[in-house]
Amino acid sequence: MYDRALASLPGGNTRTTVFMKPYPIYAARGEGCRVWDLDENEYIDCINNFTSLIHGHAHPALLEAAKRQLALGSAFGLPTESEIDLAELLASRLPAVDQVRFCNSGTEAVMMALKAARAFTGRSKIAKCEGAYHGSYDYAEVSLDPTPEAWGRNAPVSVAYARGTPDNVLADVITIPFNDAAAAVSLIREHGSELACVLVDPMPNRAGLVPADKAYLEALRSVTRDVGALLIFDEVITFRLGYRGAQGLWEIDPDLTTLGKIIGGGFPVGAVAGRKEFMAVFDPRHGKPALPHGGTFSANPVTMRAGLAAMELLDDAAFSRLDAMGNEVRTGIDEAFRQNGVPGRTVGLGSLLKVHFADRPIRDYRSAWLNEEETRRQAVFSRGLLNRGVLAAGYGLFALSTPMTDADVDAIITAASGALSEVAASL
Ligand code: PMP
Repeated sequence: MYDRALASLPGGNTRTTVFMKPYPIYAARGEGCRVWDLDENEYIDCINNFTSLIHGHAHPALLEAAKRQLALGSAFGLPTESEIDLAELLASRLPAVDQVRFCNSGTEAVMMALKAARAFTGRSKIAKCEGAYHGSYDYAEVSLDPTPEAWGRNAPVSVAYARGTPDNVLADVITIPFNDAAAAVSLIREHGSELACVLVDPMPNRAGLVPADKAYLEALRSVTRDVGALLIFDEVITFRLGYRGAQGLWEIDPDLTTLGKIIGGGFPVGAVAGRKEFMAVFDPRHGKPALPHGGTFSANPVTMRAGLAAMELLDDAAFSRLDAMGNEVRTGIDEAFRQNGVPGRTVGLGSLLKVHFADRPIRDYRSAWLNEEETRRQAVFSRGLLNRGVLAAGYGLFALSTPMTDADVDAIITAASGALSEVAASL
């Protein structure tokens, strides 16, 4: 399959994130928390399409909602009731949200949130955290993966991610450190009068999946108010942490929130959400809005209906169960690290966890940076997991799903222990 793909797709690939050497395994089908590849190998899926499938694959309620809508039409050049239903549900869960604007991906949600902040404030610069991933918008991509040679001695510097990034994009992005309130506040104050917003993910996956200190987010909340910039929480992933997302757990109200992944019930989705006063930049009632926004498939009713079904299943009991499973897997893998005498541990919250092969405390992008030996251990672990029938992201991310049973949780821990014994044997 890969040989065939090489001719028609660059590198045989559509998503850099699913590339795997020597070649990827191809999914044939999925059901519940399981995936089968083209060779009929079975895996417990802990990738869940990079955290988006919180109910696993082909969940009957989501399938039914999507099928019912498909029979009525998959997209219209007209609004439908479905977008109002999902917007109302989201606004009812998030105290900081009055209104929602839908789009088709997290990338687009972040792009529209940054543009909304610019439109609202009339300012052009944004601040974001070093090492945090927010999708592919030029500005959001800055300083995603600076190597140690590029780390500034004191403050982080803005570094291009993609070749050809325009200099003016770099100049308009202030890179702040994650989880260092004093340094972040000082940079935000320094550029305050030009800043449209500060974009932060409360538990940034690529920067280590470490939960932000509450004091850090509170400091961002307070300084953004002082300088007149909007605070944007990117909850594309962290919305799966609880009924009110990360903002509910941390009890901090951002000005704008970006959503994606789980709110689409397995279909492409993104959303910008926030208070009426900020969301008014999208309002077309009085002529051209400050921020015009369309999108042929935005708020398509298949996504909206499946998303609504997915969200309705996520009540307090569902989140408690996901939290309990997450704690069990984290504790089990931590114990396996100790038993195998391998330095490392898990981090994360709720249904999300990440395995770190590091002896030091992980606080931010720089402390999460893997040295050569840690990278090697991570690769042995990843392959060991795969060979034991567990799919997790190559960089150690696990996302659990509601169809998992206690037996599945045990099987994940057993596979991780086996993979860690392989790492131990390789030391
Ligand atoms: N923000 C965050 C925090 C993400 O993790 C991602 C994707 N993993 C995005 C934005 C971009 O979302 P999408 O892949 O749907 O464009």
